[in-house]
Amino acid sequence: MRCLSIDIGGTKIAAALVENNQLSQRVQIATPQSKESGAMKAVLAELVAQYQGQFDAISVASTGIINQGILTALNPKNLGGLAEFPLKETLTQLTAKPIFLLNDVQAAVCAEYQHEDPQEIQNFVFITVSTGVGGGIIQNGQLLCEPHGIAGHLGHTLADPNGPICGCGRPGCVEVIASGRAIEAAAANWEAPCSAKEVFERFRQQELQAVQLVERSAKAIANLVADLKIGLDTQKIVIGGSVGLAEGYLPLVEKFMQALPSIYHCPIVKARYAGDAGLIGAAKWAEMNQQF
Ligand SMILES: [Zn+2]
Repeated sequence: MRCLSIDIGGTKIAAALVENNQLSQRVQIATPQSKESGAMKAVLAELVAQYQGQFDAISVASTGIINQGILTALNPKNLGGLAEFPLKETLTQLTAKPIFLLNDVQAAVCAEYQHEDPQEIQNFVFITVSTGVGGGIIQNGQLLCEPHGIAGHLGHTLADPNGPICGCGRPGCVEVIASGRAIEAAAANWEAPCSAKEVFERFRQQELQAVQLVERSAKAIANLVADLKIGLDTQKIVIGGSVGLAEGYLPLVEKFMQALPSIYHCPIVKARYAGDAGLIGAAKWAEMNQQF
């Protein structure tokens, strides 16, 4: 099956034809920063027109939540203020081919899970620690995404009830403790403020203040891993994202997890796919659901 995969992110939209995990004709454009739906509709119409006649299905991986074909966000700022967008309806007007929709991290877990032996691993989770924190959950070999598209929003589970208020409105979510944005916000209050990238440079040089900040993030993720293990009997966790894949980060998560009782331990590995996980995973999702 040849799939037109579209990955809608907060700052960029990527698209490509995907067949057997191979990408061709990949393009990337800026995400429209508008509260009005017209700009997004125009961008999608232009993209689909570009590939017309070359695909068997369209699959979209998007940031935010796709609930019954409507794209929404826990934090609308992530999509240029676009709080609700009729994604399925828009695409239906552009093609008669089958349409598949899912969250971008749900797509990423599909991309990663295809390399596991389903007889051996049935409960599998992907966690991305990047600007935000997100997740995708495979349970009993199936992606959790119905009925409201919410499952896997692990960045909005609790890390610290006394923590700062998250963009979703809840105090102390994992995202406000562990994400790149949270690291940057904390470092902005330092005597010598610095960016998240600089925090990681200082972390590599073992500067105490930076080490403590990165450890706070890694500890929140280690506790999230423990919660998944005890809550869902998760057998393997893949960690990705710019923070998750930063040098020295995963060993810290491992260290904090190992400090917990063994029932909370779960194998943790680095993500195989980086930037194209959404495109590849969206195509995989279409393949898993397509009836030929
Ligand atoms: Zn939250």
